[in-house]
Amino acid sequence: MNVALFGGTFDPIHRGHLAVARAARHQLMLDEILFVPSGVPPHKRAGAVTPFHDRHAMVVLATAGERSFVPLRLEDPDLVTGATYSIDTVRRLRRALGPSDRLFFLIGADAFLDIATWRGADVLTREVEFVVASRPGFSLAALPERVRDRATLHLVPGVSERISATDVRRAVRSGQRLEDLVDPAVSAYIYRAGLYRANPGAHHRSETRSKTPAAQRITGRRCVSPVERPLRPAARRLASRPAKSARPVQHLHDEPDRREEEGQ
Ligand code: ATP
Repeated sequence: MNVALFGGTFDPIHRGHLAVARAARHQLMLDEILFVPSGVPPHKRAGAVTPFHDRHAMVVLATAGERSFVPLRLEDPDLVTGATYSIDTVRRLRRALGPSDRLFFLIGADAFLDIATWRGADVLTREVEFVVASRPGFSLAALPERVRDRATLHLVPGVSERISATDVRRAVRSGQRLEDLVDPAVSAYIYRAGLYRANPGAHHRSETRSKTPAAQRITGRRCVSPVERPLRPAARRLASRPAKSARPVQHLHDEPDRREEEGQ
């Protein structure tokens, strides 16, 4: 079985992410793509990243129509204590897969350019086959040599969606339509939950009023958790294994604090 891990902040998940996953699935005949929203990086100040449950809920909504897209809460801060790193998530996945299963790591060209700086990058290159998708503005030819020489790389050159999560957050703040950027269900979630507004207080107030995930309030049904949704084989095996307690797992790019980047 061919399984791919697709990690990201997904703040929010947008059409670019979905295009990457579809192109990779087609090119590498992937059976499952596991969407894993990252926990909050430890170096980020509180509020710099949208709460995990909102980001995860949007991933659930955006992937609901694709049987092979499976959202997983492997880096949910409520389930895993401490910082989480991709290398630990990969190890956990590896243990859940059989010896004949292939594990791919789906990543955009921009993120892959920084891979050598990630924690455990050398181990990561041994554990997975990288699937590096093109992204407008970033050259697949400029991938770091050190990793390029050691890693198994599959290039997916056909992705040309000029969309970033930063664009989506900006679009919300300036009142633009989101339909070209995100799935309609994600757009509805963003507006109803009050995410990414110029005045973030509105969002935080709604959070303290109720701990119920906004998806539940919006759709009127329980947000489908990956464990409740009928799972594809790899995800099922993973869900049946408890996380090693207090094991650090996380997306490790040391991203700059985005709110400052965006002038907030
Ligand atoms: P932000 O604008 O907040 O930095 P982002 O749009 O880059 O976010 P992430 O959730 O950080 O989204 O990205 C997760 C993964 O998806 C990364 O590997 C990234 O390179 C890849 N990715 C995101 N958008 C695209 C895109 N439009 N084309 C190709 N890859 C993408």
